[in-house]
Amino acid sequence: MPSTVPPALPDRVPVAACPLCGGREFTPVCRAAAHAVVRCAGCQLHLLNPQPSDAELVEIYHPHYSFFGAEPGAEACVSRVKQATAAHYLNLLAAAGVSGGSLLEIGCGDGDFLLQASRRNFPATGIDYSPHSCAKAQAKLGAAARIICGEISAVADRRESYDLCVACDVIEHVRQPADFLQTLHGLLRPNGRLFIVTPDLDSLAAKLLRSRWPEFKAEHMYYYTPRTLRRQLAQAGFTDIRLLGGTKMLSVDYVTRHFITYPVSGLTPVLRLLRALLPASWGQYPWLIPAGGMIALARKPGPVGH
Ligand SMILES: [Zn+2]
Repeated sequence: MPSTVPPALPDRVPVAACPLCGGREFTPVCRAAAHAVVRCAGCQLHLLNPQPSDAELVEIYHPHYSFFGAEPGAEACVSRVKQATAAHYLNLLAAAGVSGGSLLEIGCGDGDFLLQASRRNFPATGIDYSPHSCAKAQAKLGAAARIICGEISAVADRRESYDLCVACDVIEHVRQPADFLQTLHGLLRPNGRLFIVTPDLDSLAAKLLRSRWPEFKAEHMYYYTPRTLRRQLAQAGFTDIRLLGGTKMLSVDYVTRHFITYPVSGLTPVLRLLRALLPASWGQYPWLIPAGGMIALARKPGPVGH
C-alpha cells in the first residue's frame, strides 16, 4: 500500500513532494544503512525519505571519504582510476563534438578530472564544498585551473557562464536535484552542454543485487533510471538528451577497496582473495567496465532559430 510521507526522525529531512512529478505518495522499497528507500507512486523515482540530517552527512563526508578510508596506497589508487575515467569521459565528449571551451566541474574533489580536462584545451573551473579536497585540487593543478570552495551558489553568484558543466556522481547526493539542474542550466551559455554521471537503478548490478546494491547508501538521496533522469533533465530545460552507456575505468584494487568499505556478503571476500593473488601492477591496471552507472549528455537550447 502506498504510504504518505513517513514521520521525520529527529533532524532528518522529510521530502514532502517528489522533485520530478510533485507526487506526495511514496511506497517503501528497502532499507539503506538505516534509511528508507521509497518509490514515488507517481513517477517511480526512488529516493531516501526522510533524507539524512546535515549532521549525519557531515559524519559521512569525512576528509578521507573519497579514498575508502586512510589505508596505505588508497589515495594513489583512487587518483589513478579517476584520471583514467576522466580521460574516458573526455573521449566520449570529444566523440560528441565537445572538445574545448570553458568548463565548470561541480564536485571536483581532488581535481583528477580537471587535470585531464586542462590538458585538453578546456579552461577549467572546479567547485567543491570540501576545503580538504579544494586544497588538494589546487595543489595538483596549480595555475591550470581555478578552484572555488563552497556550495554551487558560490559559482552562481559570480554571474559567469560556461560552455560545459560536468557533475560526475553528484546529482544523487544533492537534496534538491530539480533546483540543482536548474542552477546548472543557468550557468551554461546557450548551446552549452551538460555532462552528468549517476548510478543507474536499471543497471544489471542494481537488478541482480536488489536491496544489496552498493549504491543504496545514506549519502545517495536519489536513484535515477534512464527514464527518470531524462525526464528530470527535460524538466530543467535541457534538450538533445543522450544517455550513454555507464562505463567507468576501474581496477581490481579500486573495486576491492570499494567493497571493503561497502561490504557485500559473498562478494567482498572473493575480491580480497583476487587482489591478493594478482601481481600488484595487474591489480592497479584500469579496465573499462560497465559500472552500474549511466552518463547523460544534454544541451541548453540556443536562441530560437539557431
Ligand atoms: Zn514522482
